[in-house]
Amino acid sequence: MPFPVAHSLAGISITLTAKIDRRRSFYSEILLAAFLSNLPDFDFLLVLVTGSLACHRSFSHSLLAALLVGSLTAFIRNGSFHKKDSLVYTLVYFSHIFLDFILSTRNGVQMFWPLSKLKITAGVITYPLYNWLDYDGFTLIERLAFISLLEIFFFSPVLFVVFIARRYLSDSNVVDQ
Ligand SMILES: [Zn+2]
Repeated sequence: MPFPVAHSLAGISITLTAKIDRRRSFYSEILLAAFLSNLPDFDFLLVLVTGSLACHRSFSHSLLAALLVGSLTAFIRNGSFHKKDSLVYTLVYFSHIFLDFILSTRNGVQMFWPLSKLKITAGVITYPLYNWLDYDGFTLIERLAFISLLEIFFFSPVLFVVFIARRYLSDSNVVDQ
């Protein structure tokens, strides 16, 4: 069960591998990447409304949702269909689904909704905090902070490498022209 820290770092890393249009604010693209890479979990609003946990990791965690949200975001940003931006935003959104798929041992994602409503998971890693109800107060805060630090430890090197590569390529006039 990856946290927002891991999702954000992965999404921002993907955005930074793409050439960002100089007419746009660099930071707005970073913020957009952080938002899109966490957007699938906004399905918690549906859980609150319906009271059913089955809504979590359902259609919002599918390839179709990634494609639709990515294409729509690119359309809104450009005012018309934009193939490259559609791909980047789709990948940023999909990074969330992929991490949930890889880093969950239970409660997978409906990757192939609506073709299949089966929640699938690769079950690679069991996160140290699976059941929120087992913890409360300071212990819960302590666990959340610990896992967030672990995610920074494992995911920030990827972002760092991408950032350095981007700067190097930019200095070589390959990126951001
Ligand atoms: Zn999720």
